[in-house]
Amino acid sequence: MRALIVGGGVAGGAAALALEDAGIEAIVLERRDEAAAAGGSYLTLAPNGLAAAAALGVLPRLADVGFPTDTHLLVGASGTPLGRVSIGVPLASGLRGLTLRRSDLVGVLTAEAVRRGIAVRRGAAVRGVDGTTVELDGGERVDADVLIGADGVRSVVRSAIDPGAPAPRYVGLTNFGGITRGTPVAARLEQRAWTMVFGRRAFFGAHPTPAGDVVWFVNVPEPEIARDVRAATSGDAWRDRLAGLVAGDPGDAEHLIRAGVLELAGDSTYDLPTVPCWRRGSVVLIGDAAHAPSPSSGQGASLALEDAVVLARELRGAEDPATALARFESARRRRVERIVSAGARSSSSKIPGPLGMRVQEAVMRVLLRTVVTERGSAWMTGYRV
Ligand SMILES: Cc1cc2nc3c(=O)[nH]c(=O)nc-3n(C[C@H](O)[C@H](O)[C@H](O)COP(=O)(O)OP(=O)(O)OC[C@H]3O[C@@H](n4cnc5c(N)ncnc54)[C@H](O)[C@@H]3O)c2cc1C
Repeated sequence: MRALIVGGGVAGGAAALALEDAGIEAIVLERRDEAAAAGGSYLTLAPNGLAAAAALGVLPRLADVGFPTDTHLLVGASGTPLGRVSIGVPLASGLRGLTLRRSDLVGVLTAEAVRRGIAVRRGAAVRGVDGTTVELDGGERVDADVLIGADGVRSVVRSAIDPGAPAPRYVGLTNFGGITRGTPVAARLEQRAWTMVFGRRAFFGAHPTPAGDVVWFVNVPEPEIARDVRAATSGDAWRDRLAGLVAGDPGDAEHLIRAGVLELAGDSTYDLPTVPCWRRGSVVLIGDAAHAPSPSSGQGASLALEDAVVLARELRGAEDPATALARFESARRRRVERIVSAGARSSSSKIPGPLGMRVQEAVMRVLLRTVVTERGSAWMTGYRV
């Protein structure tokens, strides 16, 4: 059996490894070249994603490029600590979470795929899909027995299998991310933790790295940022604006933004709550193409890794790919949609509501003691693929 994977991101790279392990020939088509795929912002893999990475045989290499994260430490706009939440149920090794650049995660998966002899074609943009045949920009056609759409939240494969598929939903937050190198703030922050501040005008998160830098992100509740505005705004202008939004909030957000380098700017956040049609015949969607959770869930990349392992398990030795893909969907749909809903709730908690600041902080403190706990989210992070 030969599988064509559209998209060489987290889901696509992971699927290539899992399929190879299952004895299935895989070819990855990725539209970006190496330079375009480099850099970018950080993400945290939860323990369920780390377990999937271990199943794919890449966990030690991810640990080399990332750093451990155990906790979220939440602080209110008044400076009051609201509580701490574990990243999740640890692996047997004690590891709970790994924070790393998304491009390094993809880099590790791709390097391992190439090392195992899997064909990874860069600069191969798919513009059309007809059954399990794709057409690339430039007109070349490539076909296979199974076509896997791992092409992200704006998937071309999704539109091909269901032209009426829902469009991604804007979740009301824009995203910015950066790094401040060699800063004394790194020593003041709790190690192996994201310190997150529910500021008055923006939500801010900061994580020290073992090298003494601080990685940070800002979520701003505001309308979507148009593409032309994004293209026309300089890094300095974004940083001035962000520093103004966090000015007066507790912690070192303003300093970190002013002294840092912006690596992700003006990114509007989308999710995909329900995609009714995940597959048609021998074509299937995985990762964000099928079920993008909001970044606030901290689960998108972990789910993409899980998908890859489950997909290959179902396709291994399958006589009829379509039946195997149906089994894949039944194994995955309920879990991922539950996580997308949880992510949407977590995004809206970052948007100041009608309650006053003190009341909102009191509600958060109770929730963090009772509901948002390691035990309460064990169904999500304690899952082992
Ligand atoms: C700001 C931000 C923070 C996040 N933080 C976290 C976090 O902390 N933890 C977490 O688990 N997740 C996080 N996520 C989510 C995570 O990044 C995604 O869920 C994950 O990247 C999904 O992987 P994917 O491979 O499905 O899609 P993508 O990573 O989007 O990859 C899709 C790939 O397909 C390629 N492609 C698209 N169209 C075509 C085409 N037509 N032809 C060929 N190639 C194509 C793209 O170039 C891309 O490489 C975050 C996301 C954002 C935006």
